[in-house]
Amino acid sequence: MKIDLHSHTHYSDGRLSPSELVMRAQNLQVDVLAITDHDTVAAVQEAVQCNAEYQRPMQIIPGIELSTSWHGFDIHVLGLNVDVECPQFLERLNEQSQARQFRAEEIAKKLQKAGVPNVLEKVKSLAGKGQITRSHFAQALVQLNVVNDHEQAFKLYLGKGKKAHMAPKWISVGDAVQWILDAGGTPVLAHPSHYKMTAKWLRRLLVEFKSHGGIGMEVIHPRQSPVLRRQMINYALEYELKASLGSDFHYPNQWTELGKYHHLPEQLTPVWHDWNLKVA
Ligand code: AMP
Ligand code: MN
Ligand code: MN
Ligand code: MN
Repeated sequence: MKIDLHSHTHYSDGRLSPSELVMRAQNLQVDVLAITDHDTVAAVQEAVQCNAEYQRPMQIIPGIELSTSWHGFDIHVLGLNVDVECPQFLERLNEQSQARQFRAEEIAKKLQKAGVPNVLEKVKSLAGKGQITRSHFAQALVQLNVVNDHEQAFKLYLGKGKKAHMAPKWISVGDAVQWILDAGGTPVLAHPSHYKMTAKWLRRLLVEFKSHGGIGMEVIHPRQSPVLRRQMINYALEYELKASLGSDFHYPNQWTELGKYHHLPEQLTPVWHDWNLKVA
């Protein structure tokens, strides 16, 4: 079974529409696809509708990737199988969306001070109906020939401590877990090996995440060395967290692909263990 529990559409910083994403997943023979945009579930309905038109059965898991702040780190919490119509959840997401809007304005002001004016309009048009993310700022800076690529945009302007960095006011890890549980979903700690924190801090994060009701952690994701992968597998076992995996697909590129990482080591309990997946 080809399962991918982490992907983005143009409702956040992905480049494909929900329909294009579904078409790509169908073509790649993906069986289960979670759509996990940053702080929004806006893509899910279109994806489900489009998917219903295919003969080939593929299950869409309605999901989200919530941005949180934890001791100065930007920590991402995935919510899988959330109820995308839950009014309380949608209201809460609206607050997060406003925090994104506010931060975007502040980043634009900082860029202006750094000699790059009028970026906000460009960023808004790049984001369209979706959430404004730093990826959109990176894209705008590339288009304006201020930087050569996204990596440089983060290195010079958007990364932590750089010229146009604005410490975000995201919710806490505990709140994110609670929001997801209240919406009937499964909270999963996203890409734990990407946070550039010491093992001591990561262990602290895992303990805290679990104490709030966190259920799973991503053990397999892109740009991960075999050593880190081994470590994440060991943490999942040690802290009794279920294992998740995903491509974190944003747009077609040479580094990752939908459904690319679909094998979990056998000793782990998959996060979908008790989900009753329709696709066997
Ligand atoms: P935000 O949630 O608005 O802070 O944006 C974070 C997004 O920017 C992440 O989800 C990544 O897709 C992207 N990103 C973060 N760091 C980098 C980086 N160093 N280079 C390229 N993209 C990045
Ligand atoms: Mn992203
Ligand atoms: Mn993330
Ligand atoms: Mn992601």
